[in-house]
Amino acid sequence: MARYTGPVCKLCRREGEKLFLKGARCFSSKCPFERDRSYPPGEHGRMAQFRRRRVTDYQRQLREKQKVRRIYGVLERQFRRYYREAERRSGLTGENLLIILESRLDNVIYRLGFADSRAQARQLVQHGHFLVNGRRTDIPSYLVTPQDRIQVRDGSRKRTYFKERAQLLDEGAIPAWLSLDAEAMTGRMLNLPVRQDIDAGLNEYLIVEYYSR
Ligand code: SF4
Repeated sequence: MARYTGPVCKLCRREGEKLFLKGARCFSSKCPFERDRSYPPGEHGRMAQFRRRRVTDYQRQLREKQKVRRIYGVLERQFRRYYREAERRSGLTGENLLIILESRLDNVIYRLGFADSRAQARQLVQHGHFLVNGRRTDIPSYLVTPQDRIQVRDGSRKRTYFKERAQLLDEGAIPAWLSLDAEAMTGRMLNLPVRQDIDAGLNEYLIVEYYSR
């Protein structure tokens, strides 16, 4: 599955806010937003921050769509597919879209604390470190459903990464729609997340407006 492989911090700078794409680094002084280097990328980026431009509705919708897409590490074509699926489901399309994105296996692994970022979770999944309901699954876009059991493979638990990770797992810090048995390095989706469970800083209505044009 294709994925973005360019500079990651550039994506945050383009959106003008921290998207937390790089795990621990995002909380350190190395983050460009902590070093006064948060201006937009490109030749004229530094000047662009001083220019006052009227932002059109279309620009706001496009930027919100891009922001959400980048947070979850999804390319345009797949994101559009998720949107169509969200439209098919009953309920509010915008909320359905966020629920689908949250249900991706790489996101669930990140939320359970097995990885510092979704990108890292994605790589761990691709390397075959996880079982879903006892079966090895290496597809980051796999959509987890309620009662699915996600487990670190026995062979992988012996690796230094997972030994160190085991010390960091915190059963009290995971979202209410998931459960974690840190000792067994096993998580479960209890139910689909609801809107209140998902980062409040996202405006899914703008995305619906973008695709409804
Ligand atoms: Fe974004 Fe993290 Fe890079 Fe900061 S360090 S710009 S939050 S990806």
